[in-house]
Amino acid sequence: MTADILARVKEFTEAELLGKEAYFDSRPSVPTPASEKLHAAGLANWWIPAEYGGAGVGLEESVDIVSELSYGDAGFAFSSFLSILGTTMLHLFGERQLAARYLGEMARTGGFCGILVSEEGAGSELGRTATSFTRTGDSLVITGDKYFSTNTDAADFLLVAARSAADESDFSVVLVPRDTEGIEIVRRWDMLGMRGSGTYEVRLHDCVVPASHALSGNGLRLLEAGLNASRTLIAATAIGVSRRIRELSMEYAAGKWVKGVPLVSNSVFIAKLGQIEMLIDVMRNQCRAAGAEFDGILASPVPAASIYRAGTLRTALAAKMYCGQAGWSVATTGSEMFGGLGYTNEHLISKLVRDLRYVGLVEGGDDVIRDLLFSRYVVPAMKRR
Ligand SMILES: Cc1cc2nc3c(=O)[nH]c(=O)nc-3n(C[C@H](O)[C@H](O)[C@H](O)COP(=O)(O)OP(=O)(O)OC[C@H]3O[C@@H](n4cnc5c(N)ncnc54)[C@H](O)[C@@H]3O)c2cc1C
Repeated sequence: MTADILARVKEFTEAELLGKEAYFDSRPSVPTPASEKLHAAGLANWWIPAEYGGAGVGLEESVDIVSELSYGDAGFAFSSFLSILGTTMLHLFGERQLAARYLGEMARTGGFCGILVSEEGAGSELGRTATSFTRTGDSLVITGDKYFSTNTDAADFLLVAARSAADESDFSVVLVPRDTEGIEIVRRWDMLGMRGSGTYEVRLHDCVVPASHALSGNGLRLLEAGLNASRTLIAATAIGVSRRIRELSMEYAAGKWVKGVPLVSNSVFIAKLGQIEMLIDVMRNQCRAAGAEFDGILASPVPAASIYRAGTLRTALAAKMYCGQAGWSVATTGSEMFGGLGYTNEHLISKLVRDLRYVGLVEGGDDVIRDLLFSRYVVPAMKRR
């Protein structure tokens, strides 16, 4: 099944993304028409489980899909897969009817889910979240400012991280339909890269939703469960961008002469490409390992309880941090490859370098990931391996 999907994703990338890099880098209105075409090709939101009408592709196989899309445009890939963070939480921890309604709609329409977690004073340190919910009868009233949120303007629904106004320790994730009164898009950020995606600052003014829209469980733990999926796919974008840099380098080296021979025959160039190949292969293997571990937990008899207990997975943390670093190493080698041209906006490498930088920042920078690896997998001696 996935071989067919992957072949169609490759066709889509060739037809709709390759050659349109300047357009995606121009900060177009989002979603771009390419999102509709992805849906028309039956490929949007490919991971949504079959019980909701989706293709149900697992995370391990999604790594190659994201690598293909990112080969064309990493920003487009990011906006196409980031909903997985919210859909994973909704599927595992949402009330059944709520999940069926919103995930069924996403499978049918190719829509988006926005994730509103980060605040100006609480990005990585979610314990400092100031957005609050108040219970009034059977409703929740949500108020707060969210600093970064991708896809929110076009989303069908939002998953908002908030804490109870009455009890600071009650941290929840709440589904807020996008058409709820009180949602204000403050601005779309002008990002350094990933400009084919849209990330917004959003304000929630007394948004009222039914109390049944709160997902079940501690919100911080639910986020950890969902972040395993999105961090793995953020890592996978580095594979696609690095593969693109490899191809550009090979094309350039065939026509560039150094010391009387084409650069492609030069031993320094050969060593660089050999190094890049090793990095791409290890990135791919680590992302697949993270995907396989996640898929294995979700295939267990009690997936929600199992992933809730597991929390943030070592393989997903390692994939994101490793791919951020390895991808950056490929990007910097790539930018040197094209001489002075590599530092101009005339050459695609400048976009690829800017796009790649996000891997090591979004959903936790390296300092945060190292901290998590230490506290979750080094301090508890029984978890060391
Ligand atoms: C393109 C893009 C899309 C995004 N999309 C979304 C989205 O859809 N939804 C959403 O909620 N957010 C989103 N974000 C926000 C993003 O996930 C956060 O910016 C990121 O997690 C970092 O948080 P922060 O900005 O608060 O910075 P921080 O993590 O607070 O980092 C600031 C500084 O503090 C240091 N620091 C932080 N923690 C530690 C630590 N434990 N040890 C040592 N140093 C530390 C860092 O190294 C850094 O120097 C997006 C951001 C971008 C750029």
